[in-house]
Amino acid sequence: MKLILLGAPGAGKGTVAKLLTAIDGSVQISTGDILRAAVKDGTDLGKEAQGYMTRGELVPDALIMGIMGERLLEDDCKPGFLLDGFPRTIPQAEELKVLLAKLGIELDGAVNLNVPRDVILDRLTTRRTCEDCGEIYNVKSNPPKVEGVCDKCGGNVVQRADETEEAISKRLDVFKEQTAPLVGFYTGENMLIDINATSSDVVVADIKSALGI
Ligand code: ADP
Ligand code: ZN
Repeated sequence: MKLILLGAPGAGKGTVAKLLTAIDGSVQISTGDILRAAVKDGTDLGKEAQGYMTRGELVPDALIMGIMGERLLEDDCKPGFLLDGFPRTIPQAEELKVLLAKLGIELDGAVNLNVPRDVILDRLTTRRTCEDCGEIYNVKSNPPKVEGVCDKCGGNVVQRADETEEAISKRLDVFKEQTAPLVGFYTGENMLIDINATSSDVVVADIKSALGI
């Protein structure tokens, strides 16, 4: 499948993407994961992106389009991909449309994961992430077996630098201003699949039934 996953920070894009990859082997492409890996490795991209990310702001569109323009050309994208955290602005969505047309790729839809703000806030403050593999945990509902250690890879499980209260509130404001308008954009493209994502168990089933798979 070839899908865009839309939704606020903490809506569950990463979790849902991982569940969907298990269905047909489509690859998850998370711009957040790509950027965090670049920051960790201290690459030029990482150095440029770090400040924006820590403040909870968006990284400039040109940087993101550079990353995605290359990523979508890789062979593992051919069978299918789940775009997690991209596009994030109307200009990114417009450029993606041009890029996909050029590559002859047609999307199956843009899934909008709808979650109320209070649930989002609670999820983000209790969320923990593996520094090495990006696996997501929750201190209340899904802690790692050994505190601070990733079940999957043994890496450090930490609170992200942009998950302080200040940065979270900034990210939610940025979402409302710059990313929420994408719902209108993809409605106009006849691609929107609106999903109630408050309870994570039914999300994948609802997406599958919307896609007819
Ligand atoms: P979340 O969805 O939980 O906010 P992500 O891991 O998707 O987190 O993104 C973390 C940060 O990486 C964002 O706050 C932003 O700084 C940067 N980022 C990720 N994807 C994009 C994008 N498509 N455009 C601009 N910045 C991005
Ligand atoms: Zn891990």
